Amino acid sequence: MYDILIVGGGAAGLTAGLYAARAGLKTGVIESGFAGGQASTTDRLENYPGFPDGVGGPELMMSFEQQASRFGMETIAGQAEALRLTGLEKNVMVDGTEYSARSIILAMGAKPRKLGVPGEEENIGRGVSYCATCDGALYRGKTVAVMGGGDTAVEDVNFLTQYAKVFWLHRRASLRAMGRAADRALAHPQVTQMFSRTILGIRREDARLTLDLSSGDTLSVDGLFIAVGTQPMTELARGLLPLTKDGYIIAGEDTVTAIPGVFCAGDCRQKPLRQVITASADGAVAAFMAARYLSEQ
Ligand code: NAP
Repeated sequence: MYDILIVGGGAAGLTAGLYAARAGLKTGVIESGFAGGQASTTDRLENYPGFPDGVGGPELMMSFEQQASRFGMETIAGQAEALRLTGLEKNVMVDGTEYSARSIILAMGAKPRKLGVPGEEENIGRGVSYCATCDGALYRGKTVAVMGGGDTAVEDVNFLTQYAKVFWLHRRASLRAMGRAADRALAHPQVTQMFSRTILGIRREDARLTLDLSSGDTLSVDGLFIAVGTQPMTELARGLLPLTKDGYIIAGEDTVTAIPGVFCAGDCRQKPLRQVITASADGAVAAFMAARYLSEQ
């Protein structure tokens, strides 16, 4: 029986794990993929305080995990499949094995949103990617397109210029992203802006992708990186906890959910700003609130 089980090992989950383990509570973090979540797929973070020259996403997340493990946080590798949240004992089913805890922190994070156009699904891994840091190096000396106008698209464009010529597609004339990184991407000589248009369909022809654009023309590229936002990974909580219409778990800044002993931290929570630092802050608050709940039991 754990004191606190944390579902998800991204910035929120690992910080919750650090605070909970350091408070002497028996703490487990359930993680299905690699530790660090979305931040681990980010090449470089320039706005995480304490690193004046920026820091690599994988490097930062690895140090989050090492720090939490040093204080005794346990990692449970596997896919959380079902939750039982009511009652004093909570349960999480992980790959067919049931784990029990006195409190739960939900920190499942978010995943890239799909465009939802014909040809997208069948070309994932065959030219269509949602992770420039993971797949960018495959396009050395080639031509790629990036779709999106947020911070992720800006990062992808900047990252991909080290390998490829980049066509940058965005559905509006102005970016959602602002700041130095956006200015750098806009000014890069290897980047061609094709704003005010979106992709209607993706076709694979002669080992390349042909993109049908809303402007009526087509674009032929070797790879397409889609960066049109994220969607919360809250399927597990559906029907158990109130969600927003976009699927985020409803919990305040105190991370308290509608069920006693259940807390929610990070990108899967309804909140105005989703960054490593806000996910991390949530994790600290959630661990504190869970510890307080346990001491009141
Ligand atoms: P985002 O900020 O939600 O931006 C999504 C972009 O995709 C927007 O430009 C949006 O267009 C566009 N879009 C959405 N649906 C579309 C569709 N169906 N077709 C075409 N375009 C579509 O998502 P994000 O860039 O992934 O960022 C998510 C969060 O992480 C944000 O809070 C962001 O600030 C944060 N983040 C921060 C950093 C950093 O600070 N270093 C890095 C990465 C991410 P519109 O502009 O027209 O809405």
